[in-house]
Amino acid sequence: MNVPFVDLKRQYKVLKHEINPVIKRVLENTQYILGNEITQFEKEFADFCEVKYCVGVDSGTSALELSLKALGIGKGDEVITTSNTFIATAFAISLTGAKPVFVEVDPQTYNIDPEKIPEKITSRTKAIIPVHLYGQPAEMDEVVRIAKENDLHIVEDACQAHGAEYKGQKAGSFGDAGCFSFYPSKNLGAFGDGGAVVTNNKELADQIKMLRNYGQREKYHHQMLGYNKRLDTLQAAILRVKLKHLEVWNQKRRENAALYTKLLSDTKLVTPYVPDHVKPVYHLYVIRSAQRNKLQNHLKNNNVSTGIHYPVPIHLQEAYSSLGIEQGSFPITEQYANEVLSLPMYPELTEEQINFVVRQVKKFQTG
Ligand SMILES: *Cc1c(COP(=O)(O)O)cnc(C)c1O
Repeated sequence: MNVPFVDLKRQYKVLKHEINPVIKRVLENTQYILGNEITQFEKEFADFCEVKYCVGVDSGTSALELSLKALGIGKGDEVITTSNTFIATAFAISLTGAKPVFVEVDPQTYNIDPEKIPEKITSRTKAIIPVHLYGQPAEMDEVVRIAKENDLHIVEDACQAHGAEYKGQKAGSFGDAGCFSFYPSKNLGAFGDGGAVVTNNKELADQIKMLRNYGQREKYHHQMLGYNKRLDTLQAAILRVKLKHLEVWNQKRRENAALYTKLLSDTKLVTPYVPDHVKPVYHLYVIRSAQRNKLQNHLKNNNVSTGIHYPVPIHLQEAYSSLGIEQGSFPITEQYANEVLSLPMYPELTEEQINFVVRQVKKFQTG
C-alpha cells in the first residue's frame, strides 16, 4: 500500500462527469473574466458561510491583502497575528505597508492565545488576524471581545477553514472580513489559484470589488488605485460544482480524524485537541512527536507521505529578519515547529489506508 499526502486524482475521477461539462460550458460561452459564473459562485459561497457578501479574488493571500487595504490599513499601522501560520498571513500585512506583530499560540489549540493579545496592542494597532489553523476555529468570543474593547478590526484567515464552526457560527463570519483560499489542496480547491473574501459589510465588499478590478466600478473609470486580482471565471464554475460536495467532504474528514485519534490514543503522540464548542474541518490532521524527523523518515520509507506545517516559524524566516525578533521569543511556536507532523488527510482516504498509516506509526513507536 501507498498513502499519498493528498490525492486530488481520486477526487477528480469521481467529479469528472460533473466538472467536464461545466468547463466546456465556460469555454464555449467565452465569458472568461467576471460575469455570471462569478456572481453565482459569490452568492453560493456567501450563503455557505452564512454572510451577506462574497468577493472572489485570485488567491487567499490577495483576499487578506485586499481586506486589510479596504479597511484602510497601511504604512505606520500594526496588525496582530501569530507566527505559527503559513507565511502568507504575515505577507498580506507587510504588502499593505503595515507591520505584523506576533502573539504566542495556545499550547492546546495551536491558535492565537487571546490572553496574550492585549500586551501587544499599541496606539498603532489597527487589526487582529486570527488564523483558524488546520481548519479549527480560533477562540473567537475572546478575540471579538478584545477587538471591540480596543476598537480594532478583525480579518479572519479562514484559508484552511471552509465550513468550520465556532459555537455554531461559520468561520469567516465573525470579523469585518473572512478570507479564504481555493488553492487546489484546500478543503474547497480550484484547479489553480483562487480565493474569496466574505463579509456582512456592503461598503467593504464594494471596496474589495474595486480593488480587485483596477479600482473601477464602471469600465475605464478608475476611482482609486487598484489591482488585477480577480477570481478566474473558469475556476468559479469549477468551484460551484465542488461547493455542493463540501459539507459531505468535511464530514468525511471529521470521521477520518476521529478514526486516527481513536487508533492513536494508546501511543505517546499528541493528537488534536478539540474543544466542545468548535467543529473543525481538518484541512490537516496534525500530531506532535518529540522524534518528528525520525518518524517522518520512517513513514516515508514505509510508503506514507506526510507534511510539516510549518517547519520554520514566521518570525525566524529570512524574509522577516528585519523585524529583529530573536529565537526564543515564541517558545511554544518554536517547539511545535520541531514536533508537528501532518498525516495524510482528505475525504477520499479509506479506512484501510488510515489503518495502514497508524500501523506504520506504531511500528516506529515500538521498533
Ligand atoms: C493557503 C493559505 C493562505 C494563502 O492562500 P493562497 O491561496 O495560497 O494565497 C493563507 N493563509 C493560510 C493559513 C493558508 O493556509
